[in-house]
Amino acid sequence: MERNVSSLAIVLHSIRYGQMNRRLKLLTVDFGLIDVVSYGARKSLKAVKGDVFSDGQFFLYHNPVKRDYTLKDVQVIATHDEIRSDLGSNYAALFFCELVMKTNGGDSASQYRLLSTALDLLCSQPNLVARILIQFVLRLLDVCGLQADYARCPICERVYGQQEIIQFNAQLGAPCCQQCATLDSGMILGPGARRYLTLTKEMDYHRAVEIALSEQATLRIKAYMLRYALILSGGQLNTLSGGMLQTLF
Ligand SMILES: [Zn+2]
Repeated sequence: MERNVSSLAIVLHSIRYGQMNRRLKLLTVDFGLIDVVSYGARKSLKAVKGDVFSDGQFFLYHNPVKRDYTLKDVQVIATHDEIRSDLGSNYAALFFCELVMKTNGGDSASQYRLLSTALDLLCSQPNLVARILIQFVLRLLDVCGLQADYARCPICERVYGQQEIIQFNAQLGAPCCQQCATLDSGMILGPGARRYLTLTKEMDYHRAVEIALSEQATLRIKAYMLRYALILSGGQLNTLSGGMLQTLF
């Protein structure tokens, strides 16, 4: 009845399951988001590694009747252990994982590629964590099919003026011009931020985080993207509730 399957995947979440085991949440390329039980994961030295942020080829038993997955082996591509040694990177990575679990939309191969690159960047450039975060949310919007357009209003289709400040339409979940906006979203974006987002959106992720941004602009756009992430996930994200990501970097 059971059959062997495998997929590229990233561990998003891990909790204790019984005395010795762990239940993992994986973002897989081939099966989307799945729960996987790792037996004996807590004590045995021989237990298969499946720590949060691990990226690799996961080998599983799938029982289609019970509809569950058991972890058999992992060929690790990257453990991303470095993330845990930097507080800001650690919070950002947990936020990325939670956001992927909450939005669970769009194509899982694209989500996997985006998260894999974001975790790599947090390891190699922990000093750029704010820009990595801004670009993660910006790119996730696209993966989820929300084509946030910073060049023209998606409702009245008018191209924004050079100095125009744009607002937000809550029903559409997208930025728009002042006339088309719903009230009180607090999602306001100035022309400089709009230019930065339009310019970097089309770039490769690695290249986009290299583009310089003033400290003040970084803080403002980060706050905007965190707010956008909350709207995208239905108003509740545990990783934002403590306020650490808003203030830490
Ligand atoms: Zn409009």
